[in-house]
Amino acid sequence: MGKVLCVLYDDPVDGLPSRYARDGLPSLERYPDGQTLPTPAGIDFTPGDLLGSVSGELGLRPFLERLGHELVVTSDKEGPNSVFERHLSDAEVVISQPFWPAYLTEERIAKAPNLKLALTAGIGSDHVDLDAAIAHGVTVAEVTYCNSISVAEHVVMMILSLVRSYLPSHQWVLDGGWNIADCVARSYDLEGMSVGTVAAGRIGLAVLRRLAPFDVRLHYTDRHRLPAQSEQQLGLTFHPSTQDMVPHCDVVTINAPLHRETRGLFNDELIATMRRGAYLINTARGLIAERDAIVRALQSGQLAGYAGDVWYPQPAPPDHPWRSMPHHGMTPHVSGSSLSAQARYAAGAREILESYFEGKPIREEYLIVDGGKLAGAGAHSYSTQT
Ligand code: NDP
Repeated sequence: MGKVLCVLYDDPVDGLPSRYARDGLPSLERYPDGQTLPTPAGIDFTPGDLLGSVSGELGLRPFLERLGHELVVTSDKEGPNSVFERHLSDAEVVISQPFWPAYLTEERIAKAPNLKLALTAGIGSDHVDLDAAIAHGVTVAEVTYCNSISVAEHVVMMILSLVRSYLPSHQWVLDGGWNIADCVARSYDLEGMSVGTVAAGRIGLAVLRRLAPFDVRLHYTDRHRLPAQSEQQLGLTFHPSTQDMVPHCDVVTINAPLHRETRGLFNDELIATMRRGAYLINTARGLIAERDAIVRALQSGQLAGYAGDVWYPQPAPPDHPWRSMPHHGMTPHVSGSSLSAQARYAAGAREILESYFEGKPIREEYLIVDGGKLAGAGAHSYSTQT
């Protein structure tokens, strides 16, 4: 019987909620492109409960223990003496979430001879060295689509909050003030602005769809062009590259995976070609934007605002400059971990584990690496030599 090593974020400081803000979750059957939601044979959790933190265990313990497997759940993931490293040497399955990533580097994969499956309970498996997974025959799978809409909603929220200067206005309320001029001195309407997305995959396209009713001009770039019908329906302007698109935009949202083509993409050089006072929203991966270039652009006014929820490393250290730079709307990595999303990725993790332990194929759309090469969703959206 195998060992399943699961790395999750810490519980709330006051423990798991005894009562939730709402009763249950709306019921959904399919994702917007028709893909079915996760279809495990069963679940041992209540949708709407906090599943993504250590005590939530993604609701997997009863299932895995019934099959005789050992489940180790921890948030302690850094350094050679961490619980993660101590259990990695004989783990068969590692489960991790992008919000609190257990970085599976080449060295760590080399130290895990029994490792067969690296499962991302979420989307985005860049915390796994995919080349090393390929070399060591490790399957990498994620729960494709589970939180794409969650992130798209967050992106729209962040665009509006930056452009309209929501956070500083809220701060005046908390501080007991009524300083309208201070609040509105940086506040604009989104209407009429040009908004562009780097990548129009599941999240990027959902962002475009949600923004269309705001009467904005929509732009996108992607490695594959969308069908002409989608372009017409949403009034999209396609650009062959990010470099080509950003000079035309007031707002840019990044929705591409982190791989060799996107790492460090938003550097001083690219940002200098953006409109002065543009807004940049990055909920994709922290390393797609160069940390200090973002700080410089906010300080100089080249960017009017930066928001997102992705950092490097995660958790970000207390002195990370993105915590204190001007005009930012950063949160910890939360957009894809709403209670709604947790129910989907916990069920998806269960579905993947059921397939794996029964020796059945894992759904094609969940695969990133399999059989020693990029596979499924990974073959479409990722490049190797990350
Ligand atoms: P998808 O796979 O549906 O979309 C990714 C898109 O990026 C694809 O259309 C792909 O193009 C495109 N792409 C890849 N490389 C480039 C490039 N160099 N330039 C332009 N486009 C590119 O994934 P999702 O939309 O669901 O998620 C996207 C990313 O968002 C994830 O990889 C993850 O990093 C991040 N994410 C963040 C979350 C959070 O909580 N903040 C949660 C979920 C995801 P094509 O396939 O056409 O080649």
